[in-house]
Amino acid sequence: MTDETPVCSAKGCRTAAVWVLAWNNPKLHTPERRKTWLACEDHREHLSQFLGVRGFLKDVVTLPEWDAAQGSGDGPAV
Ligand SMILES: [Zn+2]
Repeated sequence: MTDETPVCSAKGCRTAAVWVLAWNNPKLHTPERRKTWLACEDHREHLSQFLGVRGFLKDVVTLPEWDAAQGSGDGPAV
């Protein structure tokens, strides 16, 4: 557990993340597996398009929503 502010996953971007993009590459991951990218307001669209055109994008939620969802279960880290 850290207090560091999560930052956007876009290349070169140091802006605090607001969004969580949950994605899955069916060639690499089992269907229930979720990889996550963090995105600031500016990069949410760019990153979700990148994942979307590949058919990888599963979900886009705000960071607080994502944290709340993760906190509800104590399963293995994804
Ligand atoms: Zn960004």
